[in-house]
Amino acid sequence: VSELRWNPMLGQWVITATHRQDRTYKPPAEFCPICPTKSADFPTEIPVPDFYIAVFQNKFPSLRPQPEPPEVEGTKLYAVREAMGECEVVVYTADHVGSLTTLDEEKMYCLVDVWVDRFRELGDREGVEYVFIFENRGEAVGVTLHHPHGQIYAYPYIPPIPERELHQALEHHATTGRCMFCDILAEEKRDGRRILLEDEHTVAFVPFFARFPYEVHVMPKRHLNALPDLDSEERRSLARALQEVVRRYDALFDAPMPYMMAMHQRPTDGGDYEYYHFHVEFLPLKRSADKLKYLAGSESGAGAFVTDMSAEYQAERLKGVKP
Ligand SMILES: [Zn+2]
Ligand SMILES: [Zn+2]
Ligand SMILES: [Zn+2]
Repeated sequence: VSELRWNPMLGQWVITATHRQDRTYKPPAEFCPICPTKSADFPTEIPVPDFYIAVFQNKFPSLRPQPEPPEVEGTKLYAVREAMGECEVVVYTADHVGSLTTLDEEKMYCLVDVWVDRFRELGDREGVEYVFIFENRGEAVGVTLHHPHGQIYAYPYIPPIPERELHQALEHHATTGRCMFCDILAEEKRDGRRILLEDEHTVAFVPFFARFPYEVHVMPKRHLNALPDLDSEERRSLARALQEVVRRYDALFDAPMPYMMAMHQRPTDGGDYEYYHFHVEFLPLKRSADKLKYLAGSESGAGAFVTDMSAEYQAERLKGVKP
């Protein structure tokens, strides 16, 4: 059973999904649940012998299109809502081994189109206010399925981090008349030291204010609010940039980099978000070949990130690797 519980202290919803605790589905070691179904004895989540890219509903969704009523009753202070929404899995390839970087150009481009399609479809649903496309990669991020895949959550509210960004962008726009993200791009280009790659349409950079080790933001140069606004050239450019970032990550410590990839787009609640600028954030969890970044007291308890490497140094390292 899932429900949304209001945290009045932080002004945020918490998704309480207790059914996820009793996940009984423990496949045998050789049996991957998101590989194609090769034999009737081992049906996977994907009931076909082969596929190009697959999207399906998470088997244990925290948010669902027709949610059950909440199990607890809310109060004035402790509001409770139905956990309405959607949780989807996007399987990048039928190949069990690989990553974003092993997809050929056409498939990577097609994956961007899949994201566009899912953003549109989920965003159009009644009550879905935010579509969040992301990828968790690596055991350090808690991923147990190594098959290349990402996820999409459709929330019935705007989650705290995008909400914060929207707030900042709106304030910036109100005081300067300009897009905050376009200004960030201009600032990064003026300095130049933190820019990792750049082509006609896309820039990838370690932001001046990086919180995570080797954090990289990938941003289209043209001011646009969401994936569907990208034209086909911009989609190809974005696809190449995402792959190049991951290639550099993997080359950095000569091992797959554990990261979270987060796509920040305009909300889908029907509001006017013309001032917002679509971008993708990579949040890695490795500080060095054998050291993980932990979200410890200052980060988790106070929300204050402490980093032991300058953004300029991180960018220099990422620029120096040969993928
Ligand atoms: Zn697999
Ligand atoms: Zn902009
Ligand atoms: Zn963002």
